[in-house]
Amino acid sequence: MPPSPSLIACRECDSLHRRVPLAAGETAHCLRCGAELYRRPRLHPEQMLAISLTAFITLIIANCQPIIEMSINGIPSSTTLLGSILVLLHEGRLTLATLVLGTGMLFPLLDVTLMLALLLTPHLPRLQAPLFRLVSALRPWGMTEVFVLGGLVSLVKLSHSARVVAGAALWAFAVSALLLLVMAHFDLRRLMDEAE
Ligand SMILES: [Zn+2]
Repeated sequence: MPPSPSLIACRECDSLHRRVPLAAGETAHCLRCGAELYRRPRLHPEQMLAISLTAFITLIIANCQPIIEMSINGIPSSTTLLGSILVLLHEGRLTLATLVLGTGMLFPLLDVTLMLALLLTPHLPRLQAPLFRLVSALRPWGMTEVFVLGGLVSLVKLSHSARVVAGAALWAFAVSALLLLVMAHFDLRRLMDEAE
C-alpha cells in the first residue's frame, strides 16, 4: 500500500506523524525526537526562482563593473573585482587573493547557479539529490556579506589618502548579499520532498 500523503515519517527516528496545515513560516517538529519534519516556507519555488535569477544578474554586474573608483592627485582610476585580485596576486598576497576570489566570485556564483539548476529541474529527481547535497555543502562558504563589509572598510580606509567612491559593483554586491541571505533561508527539503 502506498504511504498516505497525510502522513510523514521522521527522518531521524522513523516515527509517523499526521500532517497538519501550517501558517507561512511555521515549522512542524517530531514529537518523539524534536527533529524538523516539514515547514511551510514564506516563499514559493516560483518566487525563489525570481530571487535566484535576480541574484545571478546582480552578481554578474558585481563582477564586471568597477568595485572602487578613486582619484589620486586628480588622476581617476577604477578597478573591478578581478582587477583587484590580480593586483593582490602581483603583490604576492596569495591568501587574501584566494579569499576575495572565493567569497566575492566563486562561491556566490556557484551557489546561485546550483540553486537555479535545483529550481529549474523539479521533474528530474535523479539530478535533485546531488544538487541538493552540493548546495547544502556550499552554503557555509558563501560569505558575500563579509566581503561587502570588507569592501566598505577598505573604502573608508582609502578615503583618507584619496577621493574614493563605491563603484556600481559594490552596490550590486550588497544587493546580491541580501538576496543570497533570503535564498539561504529557503527550505530546500521541500523541493526534495516534491521531487520524491
Ligand atoms: Zn523523530
